[in-house]
Amino acid sequence: MDASTEAGSGTAKLNEHDVTTALESVRSRVNKAKADAGREDVQLVAVSKTKPMELLRAAYDNGQRHFGENYVQELVSKAEQMPSDIKWHFIGPLQTNKAKALASIANLHVVETVDREKAASALEKAVVNVGRDTPLNVMVQVNTSGEETKSGCVPGDSIQLARAIVNDCPHLRLVGLMTIGAPDTSDEPAAFKILKEERDAVAQALGSSVDSLQLSMGMSGDFEAAIKMGSNSVRVGSTIFGAREYPRK
Ligand SMILES: *Cc1c(COP(=O)(O)O)cnc(C)c1O
Repeated sequence: MDASTEAGSGTAKLNEHDVTTALESVRSRVNKAKADAGREDVQLVAVSKTKPMELLRAAYDNGQRHFGENYVQELVSKAEQMPSDIKWHFIGPLQTNKAKALASIANLHVVETVDREKAASALEKAVVNVGRDTPLNVMVQVNTSGEETKSGCVPGDSIQLARAIVNDCPHLRLVGLMTIGAPDTSDEPAAFKILKEERDAVAQALGSSVDSLQLSMGMSGDFEAAIKMGSNSVRVGSTIFGAREYPRK
């Protein structure tokens, strides 16, 4: 069993050395998938939710700069403790009453989970309120699995939401679409196909090129398939940092 598989499925806690090894293994798998697909524009986001600072530091020291977190309070605290050149991705359920805390994080790179107009307008207000000097990058989250427990707008509603962001939220910048998908071991998971179709439809509706909207899809279990299907950003947690003690959101 290679280090990455072991890290993803084991229950033992990883140390800094394990994380470095697992990160390097994931990075080489990402690079291989990129090469196989003839792609360049794919970034790796290390999803560090629930993990202790020393493991984030190990990844940082190994050159990782994009990190993903799900809980606003945890992100605020980690952003204070980690170097300011990190690009933080917020990938958790977006509550409007947390928008201001989020927008206050200077090196917040993107909020990937805008799934309704209310959330977009709360973020817009928050960005104005805290006086960020550049627009905040956001993605529209799409529920491609149809499971009620997963957040995201219904496929088909993403055009309207994207329009609302572009037209009514001048301090937000729409940079792409994101999905979690469903567990799917096939070579071409249906969820990723849906997200790509949504992205193409949104680009067409906005009169922009498809390349101007990224696809954030692919996690520990399916990031290679996601890259093959056009993902620009894979969000890998447990395969880098080890299994989490409480279930992912
Ligand atoms: C937790 C989480 C991930 C990482 O999941 P793993 O299976 O541990 O790689 C990616 N995306 C989102 C939205 C998450 O909540």
